[in-house]
Amino acid sequence: MIEGRIVKSLSGFYTVKSDKGLFTCKGRGVFRNQNITPLVGDFVLFKKTDEQTGYITKIEARKNELIRPPIANVTQAIIVHSACQPTFNPLLLDRFLVLVESEQISPMIVITKLDLASESEIDRVNQFKSEYEEIGYNVQLFSLHEEQALTSIQRFFPDEVTVLTGQSGVGKSTLLNRIRPDLSIETGEISKTLGRGKHTTRHVELIEINDGLVADTPGFSSLEFTSIEPEQLSLYFKEMKEFVHQCKFRGCLHHKEPQCAVKQAVKDEEINSFRYEHYIKFLQEIMLRKPRY
Ligand code: ZN
Repeated sequence: MIEGRIVKSLSGFYTVKSDKGLFTCKGRGVFRNQNITPLVGDFVLFKKTDEQTGYITKIEARKNELIRPPIANVTQAIIVHSACQPTFNPLLLDRFLVLVESEQISPMIVITKLDLASESEIDRVNQFKSEYEEIGYNVQLFSLHEEQALTSIQRFFPDEVTVLTGQSGVGKSTLLNRIRPDLSIETGEISKTLGRGKHTTRHVELIEINDGLVADTPGFSSLEFTSIEPEQLSLYFKEMKEFVHQCKFRGCLHHKEPQCAVKQAVKDEEINSFRYEHYIKFLQEIMLRKPRY
């Protein structure tokens, strides 16, 4: 049995990377019966059938699992957000941060289109950049023709499995192309031209960049908090985590409860009020969600 990791999936064939090279493997029939589909990113055991082929016999437990693109064991997400066109939107950025944190994925923020932004837009972005850095997030600014920004982003790839995410039009494909020009990923929002229904025909691949693996397809296309419970939400706001255990009441949602350490920290300006407002917005959204059975 050989250990490896699935780095590509295409119509039922999985490319597995191992110490002994790349193998094209099939999943075992038994996975289908158990309703388990091997995913790109999975650590697997496989049996060699000849020099370059084999079949997968075991899939190791997953740390996490994204739905679109279907990738397992993602460790890092680059949240791409633009300074303008579309306008820098901290509410949307926080939505991505919460979704990423809820999958135990470590986020990094890259702000694009600085070269297209006006002076006031740049000022605004820089202000938010320092707010997010103070919380403990890694924030990088990216202009199309600036080598230094690119180098600092690439520094974060080694040993990680990275997925890019962000709303349409922020330049995710442009960024990927700048990182690995030989890929020539279609820009102009691939999904629009292919249409929603056809995405299943596309392959998923983890590409090697600077000793790390990067998904060639952006992730987190659904922005709904479908798998987050109200009590969990504050844990996905990095700066709230240290206060949540000091609240008077167990299960405090930091909303209407008295003697809440989070609300006190907002008053004391230890937690940014804009972040707290976003927390409340998301909390209300989660609480209004129809109960799932
Ligand atoms: Zn509280």
